[in-house]
Amino acid sequence: MNLIDGNQIASTIIAELKAEVSAINGRKPCIALIRVGEDPASVSYVRKKEKTAAEIGIESRIILPPETISHAELTRIVSDLNADDTVDGILIQSPMPKQIDELLIFRGIAPEKDVDGLGTMNLGKVAQDDDTGFVSCTPAGIMALLARSHVDLKGKHVVVIGRSLLVGKPIALLALQKKAGANGTVTICHSGTSNLAAITRQADVLIAAIGRPDYVTADMVKPGVVIIDVGVNRVPDTTRKSGYRLTGDVDFSTVSKLASQITPVPGGVGPMTVAMLMRNTVKAHRQRTVNPG
Ligand code: NAP
Repeated sequence: MNLIDGNQIASTIIAELKAEVSAINGRKPCIALIRVGEDPASVSYVRKKEKTAAEIGIESRIILPPETISHAELTRIVSDLNADDTVDGILIQSPMPKQIDELLIFRGIAPEKDVDGLGTMNLGKVAQDDDTGFVSCTPAGIMALLARSHVDLKGKHVVVIGRSLLVGKPIALLALQKKAGANGTVTICHSGTSNLAAITRQADVLIAAIGRPDYVTADMVKPGVVIIDVGVNRVPDTTRKSGYRLTGDVDFSTVSKLASQITPVPGGVGPMTVAMLMRNTVKAHRQRTVNPG
């Protein structure tokens, strides 16, 4: 079994971006990071994004509205950033409080600054095999992990568990695209799927994005499968100072014995998500510099 080392692949990409940004004459790329409220996971995710941006030489602008912000006020913040020429990318950390309609907020980000790729235009471009848009960061990270681990999806049966807008749907569309590295035969499973294990056992590449700790067990996979475990689940662990540990959607201890390649949790997909956000921000800067206004 080979471990797909997301930390190492992400650091290579970050080093490549750093070289690219240092070669930019003039204004460097800038990302606006909006975090509403003080959700502890969001605090740590935004901090990581800010730190990685600084490492690359991307400017970040941190905007921290209170938990009580109204939908209209958040919309105004986004509109102001859309109009600000010195901002290349806008990310609003999910989850947002319940008075905010997340989808509407994502749709309100100017497509050319939608570096999280969750707006209608950029999701549509994925369906159209159009590379000018921004692929949302976790699915983009999965494709980069596969490419850099020499996994070509052509002719492979790719089974995705999960159909969220954030992960399941876009990764299925990317795996399906008619282009080098993709060209997979894709099956999407979800909570309404009957006899899930019979389908997952057919997978050459299994992508689990469910949000249930250790859900995929050894009896659900075939020998030689490539496993991408997207899940990040906190499970109680009294031996840890924090009181919890992180685990994926795949039972690593048993499934790794059968897999040809597998991502760990943590250290697999997670670091790639941040690296892809940075790659999208550099791309947004490049496109906006070539094509201002
Ligand atoms: P989500 O929106 O909750 O979607 C979960 C999907 O899994 C849904 O489509 C759901 O089906 C399906 N599902 C749930 N239980 C199932 C079951 N028993 N059998 C088959 N399908 C089942 O979650 P998400 O945003 O996609 O995230 C999934 C996981 O990835 C979470 O653990 C999240 O923390 C993690 N994640 C990690 C990163 C990263 O950077 N590493 C990024 C994003 C997400 P229905 O549609 O039928 O409800």
